[in-house]
Amino acid sequence: MDKSNDVMTSGYNAKVEAFRDEEYPMLKGSVYLDHAGTTPYPKSLMDSFVRDMTSNLYGNPHSGSSSSQLSTSRIEDIRLRVLQFFHADPADFDVVFVANATAGIKLVVDALRAVPDGFDYAYHQASHTSLVGVREEARNSLCLDDHQVEEWAAGHSPFDGHNEDRPTLFAYPAQSNMDGSRFPLRWSETIRRDTKSSRNRTYTLLDAAAYVCSSPLDLSCAETAPDFTVLSFYKIFGFPDLGALVVRRQAKEVFNETKYFGGGTVDMVVCLKEQWHAPKNQFLHERLEHGTLPIHNIIALDAAMDAHKRLFGTMKEVSEHTAFLHQRLDRGLRSIRHGNDRPVCTIYSPEPTSQASSGPVVAFNIRNSQNAWVSLAEVEKLATLKGFHIRTGGVCNPGGIASALGLEPWEMRQNFSSGFRCGTDNDIMGGKPTGVIRASLGALSTVSDVDAFVNFIAEFYQDLTLPPALAAQTTRPSTRADLCVHSISIYPIKSCGHFQVPSGVDWEVRPEGLAWDREWCLVHQGTGQALSQKRYPKMALIRPTLDFDRGELRVSYTGLVSARQPQEISIPLSKNPSLFRPPTTLGSRSSRVCGEEILAQTYASAEVNEFFSGALGVPCMLARFPPGGQGKSMRHSKAHLQKHQLPSSLATSVSKTPQLPGSFPGDRPPSPPDSDTERSAQERRILLSNESPILAITLPSLDALNEEIRRAGSHKGEISPDVFRANLVIAPVSRSSQRSIEPYAEDTWSNLQIGEDGHQFEMLGSCRRCHMVCINQDTAEKSQEPFVTLSKTRRFDGKVFFGVHMAAVTSQTRFPTLRVGDVVVPS
Ligand SMILES: *Cc1c(COP(=O)(O)O)cnc(C)c1O
Repeated sequence: MDKSNDVMTSGYNAKVEAFRDEEYPMLKGSVYLDHAGTTPYPKSLMDSFVRDMTSNLYGNPHSGSSSSQLSTSRIEDIRLRVLQFFHADPADFDVVFVANATAGIKLVVDALRAVPDGFDYAYHQASHTSLVGVREEARNSLCLDDHQVEEWAAGHSPFDGHNEDRPTLFAYPAQSNMDGSRFPLRWSETIRRDTKSSRNRTYTLLDAAAYVCSSPLDLSCAETAPDFTVLSFYKIFGFPDLGALVVRRQAKEVFNETKYFGGGTVDMVVCLKEQWHAPKNQFLHERLEHGTLPIHNIIALDAAMDAHKRLFGTMKEVSEHTAFLHQRLDRGLRSIRHGNDRPVCTIYSPEPTSQASSGPVVAFNIRNSQNAWVSLAEVEKLATLKGFHIRTGGVCNPGGIASALGLEPWEMRQNFSSGFRCGTDNDIMGGKPTGVIRASLGALSTVSDVDAFVNFIAEFYQDLTLPPALAAQTTRPSTRADLCVHSISIYPIKSCGHFQVPSGVDWEVRPEGLAWDREWCLVHQGTGQALSQKRYPKMALIRPTLDFDRGELRVSYTGLVSARQPQEISIPLSKNPSLFRPPTTLGSRSSRVCGEEILAQTYASAEVNEFFSGALGVPCMLARFPPGGQGKSMRHSKAHLQKHQLPSSLATSVSKTPQLPGSFPGDRPPSPPDSDTERSAQERRILLSNESPILAITLPSLDALNEEIRRAGSHKGEISPDVFRANLVIAPVSRSSQRSIEPYAEDTWSNLQIGEDGHQFEMLGSCRRCHMVCINQDTAEKSQEPFVTLSKTRRFDGKVFFGVHMAAVTSQTRFPTLRVGDVVVPS
């Protein structure tokens, strides 16, 4: 890009900086880099929409009242304005209002499916999921790469033995929503022209949803334009939730075979004795907009286009500004290198050489200095804490992801059968990432947004100083340490406050964990999902107490409640079936805990459920998952030794470089921790805890962490052990004890003996952490620490760890007990 352009965009940048805080108050303290997901809406747009709504009455169109007439005329004006926005002549094009781009695609598919002999379908491999799904309705379908499309454009149809009577649909994105690659608009014409001679036609569908957010789309030449163009307005303007299907009139015969008609699409319908109707036929949109139009959404579009123009000028200006920022982001990320000169970011998006070949999106993954991939989920957690809005994962672009990441179909199926699902945490499988990090820019992005993001990646992922070899590998467990059980906590209701075991009380330890730990949970009344503090921090203020004298679980809520809401409630500890809802006749409803399907019994008492729903402001029910269940009433531990815990001789094997936290041994990727084999090897039962029977932390590790945080100056006060929600806190007998342990010595323990009788416990591996550790368990307030510091000091294999999982070695007949002050001897 030349200098003059830089000057121009710096004016634009200053303009946006000047109104950003006022127009986007909800972005305060955050950096928005998910324009490919949706765009934030400016305040002045909402204000002017409210003004319009409160000064005019808009009725249902199609009647003579003044309110109805007003709607009709506004909608027709806005329809024209949409065409003008894309430089489309109303003589050549019609606009059909739809819910979103996907609904526009479905309208075209509905029409083609109604053709007696069906249709054939080809789509570009960078297509959004909503385009890929069209193939399920087609007689034949093909996924094409650039080369195959160019061949087709040159006259070689990819379908052999194509039925001459059957229409073909070719669909592709103007811009990939995954990596921002752009594809030639001329394809719309060349592919269509190729088949003009044959009896049946090829139609072209352009998915412009991603492209139009940051670029002008010019449909002024009807001869070369796509037959169908789909888009979503919320992606350009932030509001309203509305989309459009722009149809080239020459292609409108496609809709002739559609059969269904709904209100508003017919001139006359006869039902009695005869079945006859006359579709409206003046305008195509009249036939395709079934039922009442989304009147208020369409009217809001007018305000949205006004606001966008007022704030950002033309789409050409937006495209130049975003192209300039794109270069800066791309260069910035490419330039971050580790101390050993390896790049931090592996970028999948094309280099921003021209606006024709790429839009303002950077899709990438991060590697550590030893070339191992950093988990996407971890990057997302940290980015979220630091106020960055980005998207990670498969981003609804299966073909684009598979080709960028080199994932073969068999690998994707294998990942699926080892439990990978869209939106889960295990995102590095078989040594390969399963998704991308996507930063996408839009009209309101600024230079400081880009710089903040580049600095964030450098600050947390660039490894300049080769860190000292891991404490875990140098520290040998000190057999002489005087350690004891400092405190014992159980969490009767998953994700809620703890119950501290009083000193002097012996607490039973079962194979599945401490007695009464995580036996209850709260499930959403609608979805059956177990609620988590991650989403509902106020759960920390729900404090359960076990009262064995009265046989009750007493629960109080320490947050603010309405006057009608009790502050405390009691639930019998009894498992009397009358307390629970009977299983429905359709089989009892299942719930989900950490994505796993379980059968828990929900309480029948409206009073109980209202107590929890009222406290959290979420419609939920209390559910119980007692020990001893079978099938879906049973769960298993997922904890396992992490690579940073292995003796260095095993972990480094072939690698000559010093073993660093998180490194893969050069050419021998280890088996993914979540693979089938390891899971089946761990048939250890648990209740509703996330991963394992017992979670322990040590105070020397917490002290070390607090020291790091103090040094960084990033937090007021000490981090409390409570945030880690451990069952056992292990500490030196006295804080001044000379015979303490090194921080993180627990990483190397394989067994613990606890108590006078020397009960045996087996260590199961480090505990992976998320930003839930940032919730203050006394106040339910969120901060950035300790996760930010943990991410810098305790990240291995791109994942963050603190504390260890463990389980009692028990016989089924006699369970050990623990009490505060018990001696702890590691080995
Ligand atoms: C967002 C997007 C879609 C889907 O849009 P919806 O509004 O969800 O229907 C389709 N294709 C591309 C390229 C997109 O970016």
